Amino acid sequence: MEHAATRVQEYIGDPVSDAPPVSREKLEAIFADIQSDMRYDHELNGCLNCGICTATCPSAHYYDYSPREIVQLLWTENLEGIYDAMQEKIWACAQCYTCAARCPFGNSPGGLVMLMREVAIKHGMESARNVLRPFSRVMLKLISTGNQLSPDMISKDAFPDWGPNISKVDAPLATLRKAIPVPTLHTTKTAWEVNLKTSVELYTIWEETGVLDSLKTIDTNLFDVISDIMDEKRDDWQDFLDDQEDQDDE
Ligand code: SF4
Ligand code: SF4
Repeated sequence: MEHAATRVQEYIGDPVSDAPPVSREKLEAIFADIQSDMRYDHELNGCLNCGICTATCPSAHYYDYSPREIVQLLWTENLEGIYDAMQEKIWACAQCYTCAARCPFGNSPGGLVMLMREVAIKHGMESARNVLRPFSRVMLKLISTGNQLSPDMISKDAFPDWGPNISKVDAPLATLRKAIPVPTLHTTKTAWEVNLKTSVELYTIWEETGVLDSLKTIDTNLFDVISDIMDEKRDDWQDFLDDQEDQDDE
């Protein structure tokens, strides 16, 4: 989709910061990635700067974060401000989309934040690495098994940021799971059963949608571990198919 050239002044750097200036080319490349996403024009239609989104935003109550500010940065194509917001602020959004339901322009500030997060990951920004690092176990589970959180992952050590409420789930889970009527859920190792064929199909989806490329950018070690698991499961699936073929030939 064609977009008008940026209206922003040339980047001149921050005279009071020790941080090395980010090149104009890099700022433009980041904004171009945000702007070229097919969702961008649906989620940004203009901005009155009315602040309704921020007034209804739960994250704005607790953090130094304002969806109005994010939308204004994008609408005015403030490349430095966009880059700056991607260092911390965009990670405060809870993705509840209350803002999208309220905005008189039909904007989706939460959706725009999601785009900015994806671009932060694509560009391997340190903020993305820092935010996603504690979730490496979740990503390993999700990408390799199709499960997100399984009961055996919910412990005080794994989720210290849950505070004292974590004790509420510190229960005899193995026993409790046995009470679930569905036999495949009688384990704490998986949230639900994902069969081999579905797992292998999921791997294709992760590859084709660029999820694995993003993972490689922000966590090479995790990417390698997951790639090994995927190779093993694909081999298992191929062995299964070969066995089936042999049986059909007999
Ligand atoms: S509610 Fe919509 S128009 Fe108002 S400040 Fe937020 S994004 Fe802009
Ligand atoms: S989606 Fe994000 S920006 Fe929008 S109201 Fe929810 S927390 Fe705030």
